[in-house]
Amino acid sequence: MTEEIQQLKQLLSFPKEITIVTHRNPDGDAIGSSMGLAGYLQKLHHNVKVIFPSEYPAGYGFVQGVQRAIVFDLDQNAARQAIEKCDVIFCLDFNGLDRVDKLGESIQFSKAKKVLIDHHLDPEPFTDIEFSDTAASSTCELVFKVIDEMGDRAKIDAATGECLFTGLITDTGSFRYGTRPYTYEVAAALKEIGVDDYRLADKIFNSQKVKHLRLLGHCLANRMEIMDDYGVGIMWLTRKDYTDFDIQRGDTEGIVNYMLMIENIKVAAFILEQPSIIKISLRSKGDISVQEIAQKYFNGGGHKNASGGGVYASLKDIKDKVRKVMPEYLPKLNK
Ligand code: 5GP
Ligand code: MN
Repeated sequence: MTEEIQQLKQLLSFPKEITIVTHRNPDGDAIGSSMGLAGYLQKLHHNVKVIFPSEYPAGYGFVQGVQRAIVFDLDQNAARQAIEKCDVIFCLDFNGLDRVDKLGESIQFSKAKKVLIDHHLDPEPFTDIEFSDTAASSTCELVFKVIDEMGDRAKIDAATGECLFTGLITDTGSFRYGTRPYTYEVAAALKEIGVDDYRLADKIFNSQKVKHLRLLGHCLANRMEIMDDYGVGIMWLTRKDYTDFDIQRGDTEGIVNYMLMIENIKVAAFILEQPSIIKISLRSKGDISVQEIAQKYFNGGGHKNASGGGVYASLKDIKDKVRKVMPEYLPKLNK
């Protein structure tokens, strides 16, 4: 048993007040790992609260317990109180306090024991017990691993398993990238427990609104530029697009990946002109690290092949910047 597991066992040896926090704009892995861990901790008779810094996409409403989560943006007092009053804070699927907005301060100054479970590069040292593994497909995979190493695999029921399987599906693009042999072991174990993975895939992928497909069509038809010489796809949405297409949180998720379906495209950049900030999503194939690009130029980070950032600048400036920096990272293609 590792030292971390021993420490965690001790920490959880009698019922505690526990708060689970994940990153802003929670995705399938953030939501699934939080609700999955909550399900497990409740089995150990802890009192558990889950906090999301901002709202979760409505499509994830099917995840067990998600409706009871506290959303900081909607109820700051409840979120702050949960953090102030708890004994243990689990920080899931993020690697630095700037990923949870103003909650970062509350976490930093809280006297609670803090536990990190995360798979992002370069975690900051803000927790007491760290389960950081950048080779893991997802935080859900790591939550399973931690529970298993605690000797508690039998405490994962089908509903909790479905939470964890959700992150496996979403962070690997349905097992197309980011996997290792252990990822499939976890998937197999969860299916054995009774997870209905077909139902989950249907819930996750076939629950789009008409407006989502229209938005995707708009992006592909009118908002895409290909840098043929370097194998880069650039896409963007303007502030007006946000109004015209009634874009809500989560509605743009996944669109950036479409550019990687084009032959020879190695890097995809999706630039979003949000009310006060320009957000950028970067994706790559193979050895090109968009994490480096996000960190160096766009005030962000993430994973080698999937990163993001945010900058205060104009849409035009960021488009120009992307066009300018890509040749530093990609060889010119012979045609
Ligand atoms: P997305 O492009 O889907 O928003 O994010 C992809 C990955 O990049 C996520 O795993 C997330 O952790 C990371 N990421 C996105 N935005 C930011 C950001 O503003 N700062 C940092 N450090 N990471 C980000
Ligand atoms: Mn993740």
